[in-house]
Amino acid sequence: MEGALTARDRVGVQDLVLLEDYQSETAFLNNIKKRFKEKLIYVSFTYGQKKTFLLFLVIALKIIYSELYSNKKTTYIGSVLVSVNPYQQLGFYTPYHMEKYQGVNFYEMPPHVYAIADNTYRSMRNESSNQCILISGESGSGKTEASKYILQYLSVCSASNEQVEYIKSRLLQSNPVLEAFGNAKTHRNDNSSRFGKYMDIEFDYRGAPLLEGADDVLLSRLMLTKSPDKYAYTNQGKCAKVSSICDRRDFVAVQKALKVLDFSPKNIDELFCIVASVLHLGNVTFTQNEDGHAVVERQHEIQKIANLLGCQYEQLLQALTHRTIEANKEKMQSPLTVEQALYARDALSKAIYGRMFDWLVSNLNRSLTNKDLMRKNVIGLLDIYGFEIFKSNSFEQFCINFCNEKLQQLFIELTLKQEQEEYRAEGIEWEPVEYFNNKIICDLVEERHQGIIDILDEECLRPGDASDNTFLTKMEETVGKHPHFITHALGNSKLRKTIGYEEFRLVHYAGEVTYSVKGFLDKNNDLLYRDLKVAMSESKHDIIKQAFPVTELARLKRPETVGSQFRTSLNRLMDILMSKEPSYVRCIKPNDAKMSDRFDETLVRHQVKYLGLMENLRVRRAGFAYRRTHEIFLNRYKSLCPSTWPHYDGSPRKGVDVLCKYLDYKEGEYRLGKTKVFIRFPRTLFATEDAFQIR
Ligand code: ADP
Ligand code: MG
Repeated sequence: MEGALTARDRVGVQDLVLLEDYQSETAFLNNIKKRFKEKLIYVSFTYGQKKTFLLFLVIALKIIYSELYSNKKTTYIGSVLVSVNPYQQLGFYTPYHMEKYQGVNFYEMPPHVYAIADNTYRSMRNESSNQCILISGESGSGKTEASKYILQYLSVCSASNEQVEYIKSRLLQSNPVLEAFGNAKTHRNDNSSRFGKYMDIEFDYRGAPLLEGADDVLLSRLMLTKSPDKYAYTNQGKCAKVSSICDRRDFVAVQKALKVLDFSPKNIDELFCIVASVLHLGNVTFTQNEDGHAVVERQHEIQKIANLLGCQYEQLLQALTHRTIEANKEKMQSPLTVEQALYARDALSKAIYGRMFDWLVSNLNRSLTNKDLMRKNVIGLLDIYGFEIFKSNSFEQFCINFCNEKLQQLFIELTLKQEQEEYRAEGIEWEPVEYFNNKIICDLVEERHQGIIDILDEECLRPGDASDNTFLTKMEETVGKHPHFITHALGNSKLRKTIGYEEFRLVHYAGEVTYSVKGFLDKNNDLLYRDLKVAMSESKHDIIKQAFPVTELARLKRPETVGSQFRTSLNRLMDILMSKEPSYVRCIKPNDAKMSDRFDETLVRHQVKYLGLMENLRVRRAGFAYRRTHEIFLNRYKSLCPSTWPHYDGSPRKGVDVLCKYLDYKEGEYRLGKTKVFIRFPRTLFATEDAFQIR
């Protein structure tokens, strides 16, 4: 007879909290590998019953979020689902499966995205706490697929009530739109054009939903040709087109979706003009005149761009090659060098595209909230870059990794809070737990006056000899003693040898990363000069005008640095997330070859590390591995004890008490709460389960 033990040997555990050796990365990997081989792509970390409310859909890899209605009480973290991309169609996304997951508790069924979707949906109807699902993982790990399955589940399972229908259809419609405009090109080694305002979007210029799908009339109106290699932004990188949105069918779908979502024809037209203008901007080049100043090479390009953006040609031309500086209360035009002009050009492209995307998101949300039903809900969209470690890491990676530290911090805080709360509610004593709290790293980066961001800002604003190297020296002086900060001059001598003279190393929760200080100062300065903002704010087009509000110009005397903007927006995001109840889908890519039968251990190990999964698990396992209501526990195992079977008529709690004693559970191994039994180690439970199976 095949007992539970052999099944566990073959396919591993479906709940990682039940891994015997939860500290071991290898055990963790083996478990997901075993399951991957059996086409069981999901595992979870879970406990207790999940309560949920609203869908705050997070598509991972970029930070774009918006808040419709931020509400009140702090709630707790949900479940974690780990998903390994199967690279083949699997049979468990059928209506039959959707049905099976309806109304069940997360832990009662094998892990599935439908389980997360179901919990979210159910709470949306029954409770009033805000909810979000964060989907994260590398490019190609299955985030978009996961979000589609979630939306699909919601659309099938929600009742046919008019308002729900309305929301559903809009949610589904918004997906292709956001995908088309916001799809990110994220190649492991390609960190070329990746920084900006809040670093919020990585622009998929290639993915502009235009070039292949648009009809000729539209293209000629936008002054574009069909070949992507004509455009600097679209021919960068090796892969000419990865985006699925380029083909005609998708293009039509996007146009249709925009119409359905009530975007006016004028706005739809402007959206395409903006995308086209960005493509043209990429082709703007500069030469140097005798004085060493930048001059635009083909000025007619600027004319096109000005037309597409509805702004003044002269003003735009001037702003691309000059900036206004104020000296002794007098305004002066200071010419840019070719290099500065190129930076300014790219900063403008990013700002235009990024702000257009924000505009799109907030208008989608508005379109979703028109009806009363959604008034109290939050539909957010967050897209996060995963943790990054390249051969050479710069300011961009510094920001991305800081973002991941913050999300990890959030996870820890919410999980521990939930644990404490549950113990208190159950009348069980709270015991301190061991895990690494990465708050210390967050502080190292963001603390006022003595964190790295502020040190960098100070150097950026200091006139005189400030440089990337003086920034390094300042850091050594200020945070040199910090246990998570190392340079060639500081720290343990063996480590120091591996660090260059212009580098510093941070010990992140996911591993050590060495950053080169080169370019930190330049990249931290906001390169979107005021002149460009002025030119945009005077545009005749609605979207551009709204995206570059005049009020922003009035407010800022000295532009905020990129690092500070980033910190501010991250902290705002954390506040939003703190007020929700997030669930997590962590996506893993099993190999780089898109093969359905290959499990590249090294690659997966990296992802497990960068996703912080081991650390997540440790936090989860800090207390009791397993907990169930007395009823459920007693119902399953009562037949193992003569006092509870075949006849028992006491309270469930008393029954569990008798049962545990009969099963010889040791005192430290379990606790009886008011409504639940808590079991510390998986092996205790497994022994009982095996006894039950063999009986
Ligand atoms: P990401 O959004 O993380 O970049 P995608 O969701 O686009 O990745 O997934 C990349 C590809 O992997 C998909 O086009 C699909 O072929 C495959 N894939 C991902 N998840 C699944 C799944 N659950 N079942 C089958 N194939 C999948
Ligand atoms: Mg995707």
